Amino acid sequence: MHPVKIKIIDKKELQILWDDGNSCSLNLKELRKLCPCATCLAEREKQSKMYIPLFAENQVTIKSIDQIGKYAIQIKWNDGHNTGIYEYTFLKNFADKVKV
Ligand SMILES: [Zn+2]
Repeated sequence: MHPVKIKIIDKKELQILWDDGNSCSLNLKELRKLCPCATCLAEREKQSKMYIPLFAENQVTIKSIDQIGKYAIQIKWNDGHNTGIYEYTFLKNFADKVKV
């Protein structure tokens, strides 16, 4: 499964239209919070579960999105952070979780 169309809405949501006809919107703040890159993973491991990250505006807005092969997108945030590669399966699971 892969996205047919990816759109940023109101600088707040990432809307993805999948090739099976389903669409989902993902909150950008949540996406940044779950950034799968090694740096952010290590950062999150250091912090306790009670920690609530506060983000600056430029950390939760997107500068550009690149497609990585046939399995993922790389999000470049406005603060320059661009090491997070979001696999389609990750995005799909994430969207399903948020819906509930
Ligand atoms: Zn990261």
